[in-house]
Amino acid sequence: MEKLPYRLQHLNSEKILAIQDNLIQWYEKNQRDLPWRRTNNPYYIWISEIMLQQTRVDTVIGYYNAFIEKFPRIEDLANADEDHVLKAWEGLGYYNRAKRLQQGARVIVEKYGGEMPKDYKKILDLPGIGPYTVGAITSIAFHQPIAAVDGNVMRVFSRVFHIKEDIMLDKTRKNMEKIGNLVISHKNPSYFNQGLMELGALICTPTSPKCVACPLYNLCEARRLNVQESLPLKTKKPKQKEIIMEMALVCRSEDMLITKRPKEGLLGGLWALPSTKKDSGLIDGESIRLELLENYGIRVSNMEYVLEKIHIFTHIKWKMKLYRFDLLKGKEIDYPEIQWVNKKQLENFALPTAFKKLIKT
Ligand code: SF4
Repeated sequence: MEKLPYRLQHLNSEKILAIQDNLIQWYEKNQRDLPWRRTNNPYYIWISEIMLQQTRVDTVIGYYNAFIEKFPRIEDLANADEDHVLKAWEGLGYYNRAKRLQQGARVIVEKYGGEMPKDYKKILDLPGIGPYTVGAITSIAFHQPIAAVDGNVMRVFSRVFHIKEDIMLDKTRKNMEKIGNLVISHKNPSYFNQGLMELGALICTPTSPKCVACPLYNLCEARRLNVQESLPLKTKKPKQKEIIMEMALVCRSEDMLITKRPKEGLLGGLWALPSTKKDSGLIDGESIRLELLENYGIRVSNMEYVLEKIHIFTHIKWKMKLYRFDLLKGKEIDYPEIQWVNKKQLENFALPTAFKKLIKT
């Protein structure tokens, strides 16, 4: 047995068995009917877990169904055009997740003949897959007793075992994984892990946990000590850095200009309005005018300020200022990374939410 990271003196094999039984029975009766729970296909479980990172279940359902309809097999995703994958991901945000999902599918096709490997280490080596996702895939699809510890599960563990460690620290997550691997049911690892996730989502919520409805009521140390509301310990995230971005709406009769963002960096490889970070030494609108000229050879006139919107990413906040320009007559633009599109054609491009906010208004 692996050495426990904390001195959990109140934990013994009898209590572990009770946690397993109560949790699994509760999950059997109370699980929500979600599309990815109707399958043991590791590829579908993988997609759902990547989509569910930082995104609400209600939002993911539609995307998940559409995605597996478009790319029903790992080979379909591996062979797809990246633009099509990003289009299917449009609106979910965190587009690097979609790119890495496709890179992972390509590795599986090249190295494992299109079959998801069953080995923990081989799955962990795939692009964009961390220990939580491996735990979810191996336990749900292959019934291996491997912990899947995300924020929800860390909250439940902090409370049930009364762990007063900062869950934002990597060290704490690793220790929680050790606990997860110790307490997981070997009879039904799939339902045990899913039960923990479901408990964190429905009952052991961040605020006002519904302890009276909880299957672990009599087994929970934090509840016994009445300190459940003060756990888990979590340091606050640093505030997002604000960046002023200038965006351009350049029109040619019914069409507007869109550009493909550089592959690397924020929203890389996605189509968007031309944009640039405002140079604090320049007057408003001048940074984007120069960007159009220097990067795309586009000359514009008649600048008009349109509106301002905020978009928040994980670490930064964009204050987006939109300017409308007229294209100077007689200038032909022939450049592969730019397109002129009307509103209807725009629907065929993966456009990040930040830019949709500007165009809709
Ligand atoms: S008893 Fe309350 S605090 Fe403990 S696991 Fe259940 S819901 Fe969470």
